[in-house]
Amino acid sequence: MPTSEVRKFRTIRGLRDILPPETELWNLVERTAHEVFTTFGFSEIRLPIMEAANMFEKGVGEDTDVAGKDLYFWVDSPRTNKGIRRVRAVVKRTEEKVSNRNSLARETLIQQADSGSFDTLAETDLVALRPEATASVCRAYIEHEMHALAQPVKMYYSGPMFRRERPQKGRYRQFYQIGAEVLEAILPNQDPAKNIGKDAAVDGEVIEMVMALFGRLGMEGVKLEINSIGHNAPDCRGGYVEKLKAELEKVKSQLDVDSQRRIETNPLRVLDSKVKEEQDVIEMLPRIGDYLCDDCAKQYAEVKRQLEMRGVAYAENWRLVRGLDYYMRTTFEITARGLGSQNAVCGGGRYDGLVQSLGGRPTKGIGFAIGEDRLILSLQEAGKGGTAQGRDVFVAWMGEKAQATAIAAAQKLRAAGFRVELPPVEQKFGKALGQADKLGARYALILGDDEIATGQWTVKTLADGSQATMSETQFLEMLRKSL
Ligand code: AMP
Repeated sequence: MPTSEVRKFRTIRGLRDILPPETELWNLVERTAHEVFTTFGFSEIRLPIMEAANMFEKGVGEDTDVAGKDLYFWVDSPRTNKGIRRVRAVVKRTEEKVSNRNSLARETLIQQADSGSFDTLAETDLVALRPEATASVCRAYIEHEMHALAQPVKMYYSGPMFRRERPQKGRYRQFYQIGAEVLEAILPNQDPAKNIGKDAAVDGEVIEMVMALFGRLGMEGVKLEINSIGHNAPDCRGGYVEKLKAELEKVKSQLDVDSQRRIETNPLRVLDSKVKEEQDVIEMLPRIGDYLCDDCAKQYAEVKRQLEMRGVAYAENWRLVRGLDYYMRTTFEITARGLGSQNAVCGGGRYDGLVQSLGGRPTKGIGFAIGEDRLILSLQEAGKGGTAQGRDVFVAWMGEKAQATAIAAAQKLRAAGFRVELPPVEQKFGKALGQADKLGARYALILGDDEIATGQWTVKTLADGSQATMSETQFLEMLRKSL
């Protein structure tokens, strides 16, 4: 095939490359998160990117978008790989036959090739790309018997998540989260009511920690909103949901189709609606705050007191409900400037039932996930972009003898932590200095016959063009002082 016809591959829809110098900013954010979180006693956990698909269904909730329509999952067995090879063979034949690449015809053929490939499937054959990491952290807590460690166990993570959402600014199919979780085994004779103050202090500290990170990064226009969604009992959220459903039925005709559907499937999520025409109707609906049981109301009041003690400013938002089923009591969301409609940079809350629903012991949990892509976007909008990684020293050398000295010099400078560019072949000094300039080098170290003979190095300061002769030790000393 002539080169001009070779297909140019591109990233697939909703995925993107993150390039230098932007990656400098990503590194800074991740480093700062590590520094801040460790001062709060958190340790890093690294998790796999794939998990059993039904772990997410159990942990996140089957009828949520995250574990439902947006989940990337597939059958992982030797038979699928065989099946995939057959599918690819069909795609190839079709592409040859269907010159206009009629995708419908292709889909049909793929389905035909696919059908009958599997007789029976085990649950363990279904794997998924993780859409979030809280369920994985809980799975790891159970799998590694972390209830036996000093409680609570405080862990943070960062990495890519995958959701098959409709891509737009700030919304990708592969995106990155930095999150943290606090897990604490509930002792058999523990009275949960007695722990309200303690839980609220933990919630307060977790929120304080995210705000400390955002503060350290210099995020602008950060707004924290909190709410309590009670707990799943008839005298608390259960009663509220019944009441909400009844009220929603009365105004059903004024809602759009999505909200109408949610009255049945997940009425709380109607409160999430951004549809303009519905807002007045939603504002008139009953509010969960009036339906909380005594313990949940006490806990909520205590969380607010905790935030005040910690100097964390917040606003209450009774419509803040989380899309994920396992949340209870404290929920929070943080928005930031410069993000358009996708302005949530962090979501979090308490999920005391999750570990148990994944087969573990009764365990309390609270955590959050920061959307790193959006955090970075917001920093960039505020003019805090990553700066290109310049060089401290460009080693301009000429002559065989000079190369050995240049290599030794580069090794020493790098070992001392300086960023050094060492060209692989000799260059005329004029050309070398031009390249040093382009790379943003601070100094050019010039090594030619004279320098080798005298043992004295020529150092050019690129900013002002000044030049000086000095020994290796003097140069290192100067670098240390000036950078
Ligand atoms: P969630 O896990 O849905 O609570 O999301 C937590 C945070 O992750 C959100 O506040 C967003 O900042 C970020 N996030 C969620 N989905 C996406 C996405 N598709 N693209 C980029 N960021 C996302």
